[in-house]
Amino acid sequence: MSGLATDRVVAIIGAGTMGAGIAQVAAAAGHPVRLFDQQAEAVHEGIKRTGKGLDKLVERGKMSREDVDTLMARITPAERLDDLADAGLVIEAIVEDRDIKAGLFQTLEALCADDCILATNTSSISVTAISAGMARPERLVGMHFFNPAPIMKLVEVISGLATDPGIVELIYQTAMSWGKVAVHARSTPGFIVNRVARPFYAEGLRIVEEGGATAAEVDACLKSSTGFRMGPFELMDLIGNDVNYAVTRSVYDAYYQDTRFRPSLLQADMVAAGRLGRKSGQGYFNYSDGATEPPLKIVEPGLLPDRLRLMGRLGIAHALKRRSEAAGIKVEQCTGDGYLMIDGICIRPSDGRSATQMAAESRHDDTVIFDLAADYDHVSFLAIAVSDQAGDDALDVATGFFSALGIDCLLIDDIPGMICLRTVCMLANEAADAVGQQVASESDVDLAMQFGVNYPRGPIEWARQIGLSCVVEVLDNLSLHYQESRYRVSSWLRRQEYAQADDQQPEQYSH
Ligand code: NAD
Repeated sequence: MSGLATDRVVAIIGAGTMGAGIAQVAAAAGHPVRLFDQQAEAVHEGIKRTGKGLDKLVERGKMSREDVDTLMARITPAERLDDLADAGLVIEAIVEDRDIKAGLFQTLEALCADDCILATNTSSISVTAISAGMARPERLVGMHFFNPAPIMKLVEVISGLATDPGIVELIYQTAMSWGKVAVHARSTPGFIVNRVARPFYAEGLRIVEEGGATAAEVDACLKSSTGFRMGPFELMDLIGNDVNYAVTRSVYDAYYQDTRFRPSLLQADMVAAGRLGRKSGQGYFNYSDGATEPPLKIVEPGLLPDRLRLMGRLGIAHALKRRSEAAGIKVEQCTGDGYLMIDGICIRPSDGRSATQMAAESRHDDTVIFDLAADYDHVSFLAIAVSDQAGDDALDVATGFFSALGIDCLLIDDIPGMICLRTVCMLANEAADAVGQQVASESDVDLAMQFGVNYPRGPIEWARQIGLSCVVEVLDNLSLHYQESRYRVSSWLRRQEYAQADDQQPEQYSH
């Protein structure tokens, strides 16, 4: 099946941030576009904004003047809703209110031709609920663009309970033919992206609330060690802490207060204090002129080691062995459950236990743990934590080792799961739950997170790279530590782990 023919009119209702952007996307694909808003002025403003944005592309040599003129000529203002009667597709991008949206679609189905597809760009309201009062609810589909619509590649194509699968497929193909990455999702709270992304913020907030690290440190680790384009705190400051808090609360309520989605008191405080982020000049960071970047606790390295003992294998961190040898450190391979010994100091990859717990269980008082990296061959910045039982040498020895490999160490408090490991495992867990609950396929969940919020990898693909058994172990350890259902392992993830158990030897634990 191909997408909507480009000679069919695409009508957009609501000419705000999203509507004007979607109009540009449809016009760029060749459709005649009609833009309607209850405020006529908003239509003219929206068209003007689009024109200005495209002018910048001409200045930068990214588009020709002719192409921009052709595109702009395809977008025409509609003065009345009746002017949309001949549309082949209507996309609604009005205020986020279920009753107003439902009323609009009831009017539209009476107005538009029988074969006209009706789509909503809602980011949080159930497509099923919006369509409930329609004579033909099977005509309504969710077409969820991301902001800014002309730039962000993802479109979530949302099926309500009644949505006609043929319409879903046509909209999927249409989005693809418009140059987007389309994914299918069942209408459930948060769809894919706004649900699976919750732990990215929630774990960061919790780490700061527990005194594990500062906001700047959490951001630095997730960017430098795991390759996220932005850290959760700068992202929340950009989105607006009020907006992010409202989305978190709405997902939490929609899932009947599942503790997994519980909002954070820290975020509530930020909103109460009016620290909304960039737009108010102050959020987790200060955006006033002359404000300085908050400092990071990069530790001065101790002496560089000339030898170490490698006890077993280090799992996905095994590249550190190669890097040690390349740095001229003599590596003696021994048996063990995956750690390094240097001058009596035990250095281990985090597995969801604190260094203090590991020290107690392994009887190595001097234990230092390090965080997850996306690429241990090249990482140059890692969080480390030291057990409460450790002597003064432990930190010196560990930082000396990492420094020999060209890795700066950020000392954080000894919280289980550290920063990157805990965040990535919780993202994978939420993604797995979405797959297990038939919200979307595994590949669509991964695509959605890469193209909707620019994650460096899909969370499930990432979990498979880390090793599903390792991810499950991290979550089980977090769950044991906190005694909270927040860290319970997704049933789908656990099943996948069992299914792969034969061909997946968890390297970290092979002797
Ligand atoms: P916006 O406030 O920028 O624009 C909404 C426009 O709709 C306004 O111009 C308003 O005059 C108009 N409008 C309101 N009620 C109307 C009605 N009954 N009939 C006709 N026009 C009406 O809002 P936005 O950020 O563009 O969001 C629009 C929709 O897109 C919402 O459902 C929102 O949840 C969703 N969405 C927003 C984002 C985002 O980041 N802003 C991302 C994805 C989806």
